[in-house]
Amino acid sequence: MAIYCRNCGKAMADDARFCPGCGAQTWAPGPYPASVTRLVRPRAGRMIAGVCQGLANAYAWDVVWVRVITVLLTVFGGGAGLLAYVIFWIVMPEEPIVLPPPASPYQPPSQG
Ligand SMILES: [Zn+2]
Repeated sequence: MAIYCRNCGKAMADDARFCPGCGAQTWAPGPYPASVTRLVRPRAGRMIAGVCQGLANAYAWDVVWVRVITVLLTVFGGGAGLLAYVIFWIVMPEEPIVLPPPASPYQPPSQG
């Protein structure tokens, strides 16, 4: 599965952090490798349980629109938005606590 640069549309490797074509940073940068689901409820930026924020992070959506659609589905969709929210709340894992990386033991080789 390839991802595409939002800036220039060039295909990139799944784990690429920057576009090889234009150098733009890829969407949804995070501590998770591409093989691990990004569909988690983040601890930062959440309003209730972090479901909307998590979906926005995972799919590079605008969290405001995710919330608006959820509310609209709840109000006008017979509670479908609320139902979906609760389901996502149950199935989405909470973001693990990310510890700061330890100081790197790597020392650049000194020239003389
Ligand atoms: Zn690009």
